[in-house]
Amino acid sequence: MNAAGGPKRPRRPLTDAVHGGEKRPRPGHSITTPIFQTATYVFRDTAELVDYMSGNAEREEYGRYGNPTQRVAEQKCAALEGAEAGLGFASGMAAVTTTLLAILSQGQHVVMTDDCYRRTRQFCAGMLARFGVETTIVPTGDYDALEAAIVPRKTRVLISESPTNPYMKVVDLGRVAEIGRQHRLTTIIDSTFATPVNQRPIEHGIDLVLHSATKYMGGHNDVLGGVILGRREMIEGIRQTQGVLGGILDAHAAWLLIRGLKTLPLRVEHQNRSAQRIAEMLAAHPRVERVHYCGLPSHPGHEIARRQMTGFGGVVSFELRGGLEETSRVVDAVRIPQIAPSLGGVESLIEQPSLMSFFELTTEERLAIGIKDNLVRLSVGLEDPDDLVEDLQQALRAT
Ligand SMILES: *Cc1c(COP(=O)(O)O)cnc(C)c1O
Repeated sequence: MNAAGGPKRPRRPLTDAVHGGEKRPRPGHSITTPIFQTATYVFRDTAELVDYMSGNAEREEYGRYGNPTQRVAEQKCAALEGAEAGLGFASGMAAVTTTLLAILSQGQHVVMTDDCYRRTRQFCAGMLARFGVETTIVPTGDYDALEAAIVPRKTRVLISESPTNPYMKVVDLGRVAEIGRQHRLTTIIDSTFATPVNQRPIEHGIDLVLHSATKYMGGHNDVLGGVILGRREMIEGIRQTQGVLGGILDAHAAWLLIRGLKTLPLRVEHQNRSAQRIAEMLAAHPRVERVHYCGLPSHPGHEIARRQMTGFGGVVSFELRGGLEETSRVVDAVRIPQIAPSLGGVESLIEQPSLMSFFELTTEERLAIGIKDNLVRLSVGLEDPDDLVEDLQQALRAT
């Protein structure tokens, strides 16, 4: 591309990851986009201010309404996702809550699938309910229940996630988009586990795509962020609400996100391959009862995943033969993956959901929501897959 911008051709993800959203030339002729560490922006005189206030000039005004580093991060995400526009947030949950508060009004209704991120469910079923917005939760993959839950003239939003946490359930994106269109709802997909490298929901007709950028998009376990992507006028509406609520992506976090995104396709492709190998090894292991990975032909979502995804992601969940203690012993015997919440970074992370996200529940209560004590979730990092396979094998042998 030359200085004038060159011809506009659709570019491939590796190129968009490096160059997408980055204006040329950059300030000070730097190769990277600088961190604009500023809280506010200066007007030359009152005439310039009046011109801006009258809507005649596009520029920055105040830190809560935008920052040049944040805008580059947003445009890079949009280029990767094939979206018109994007909006960055302080965290994935800031993206979820701000988006829903921007769209919904009192008396309206949300339909949500049951495997959605726990805090998203808590926000809808718990907090939004206090403000007169009701939520119906339907089983993931039951499209009849999904349609039956829609209340004419009340339901406004259909929110789902694919693949889901921790069982990697897969939602048919085209079908969800079609139901949304028929009933004039806004469809939202949390695509955090897939990343735009493995799945692009907008191409299937979904209105808004959401990511916790804390996971694969940032990719280095060193920054919190969130992003929402979709049509420009929708995103601008959410931006207005963000200007009130204030959950913005800070300039330094935006810079870390830009840096992380440059290697997103490389990282995710490596993680896809490693996770597939680990899932196959575990599926054949006598100490393992079940593996949940949508890249395995035995997974119930495999066929849909093959149709709508180009890779199956880096998270593998599995159930061990044994109970809570036996499972903990295996988790403790693993040497390379470290015990921590979160996923999608360069370091492999392992956790036992019954002791992490669902600790306060009893074994019976956990079973009622489908979280077994022998369940382990592994987020595969960028280590050598041979080392990870050998490490898991020694842990399964030693316990
Ligand atoms: C982590 C996560 C979130 C929340 O993101 P934060 O950045 O932690 O606020 C939302 N959805 C999914 C699927 C996640 O994994």
